[in-house]
Amino acid sequence: MRVTTIDTLTQVTFMPGWFPINCYIVEEENDLTVVDTGMSFSTKAILQAAEKIGKPIRNIVVTHAHTDHIGGIDRLKEAQPDSTFYLPKRELELLEGDKSLRDGEDQTPIKGGVPKGIQARPDEVLVDGDRIGSLQAIHAPGHTPGMMAFIDVRTNALLAADAFQNHGGFAVAGDIRWRFPFPGLATWSKPTAIETARTLADYQPAILALGHGDLLMNPVPKMQEAINQAPQK
Ligand SMILES: [Zn+2]
Repeated sequence: MRVTTIDTLTQVTFMPGWFPINCYIVEEENDLTVVDTGMSFSTKAILQAAEKIGKPIRNIVVTHAHTDHIGGIDRLKEAQPDSTFYLPKRELELLEGDKSLRDGEDQTPIKGGVPKGIQARPDEVLVDGDRIGSLQAIHAPGHTPGMMAFIDVRTNALLAADAFQNHGGFAVAGDIRWRFPFPGLATWSKPTAIETARTLADYQPAILALGHGDLLMNPVPKMQEAINQAPQK
């Protein structure tokens, strides 16, 4: 386990060596927002990191329904029953076991593991443009149909979940890096992921905070390079 803090953003990393999984804590004036909950074994470290910052966890945001992002929600919600749990609307359908595709979505199978036994259900569902404290929700489909990224309007830090990866190589979702292929193999639609990658680069983020891999400062040139490298199909 490793904890990295830059300004108001804290990254908590599990298994940093071989299969890094990141959760984030965003510090607001009076409270904290957790973004992604890791797996069921991640809860204790998230709570400890929050305690160290010294503010209560008010919001828990999950970017998408894959196990390594939503897997810790039950324990975290149990430990923080007064917190508000947010999930993108489209990802709630996945969590409920509905893997069918909607009109306008790339008609290719949804991939990756979605846990079956999660008890928690969101207190609020998110749509594009919603605000949670300083975080603005950005619909960021491609890795899954409903994944969301979040930009901190104070710092321009972009929490982009699995829209890119920064472990085993830097890549757009779906452009497999064989030294760490898992986010790529779990990606639903490569063309949609590339479109989203362009949208996210247009926000000109100052920091890129991903589900897998280290924080990246001034990430735009690297994002653009990865977009240009990504195969279009
Ligand atoms: Zn994922």
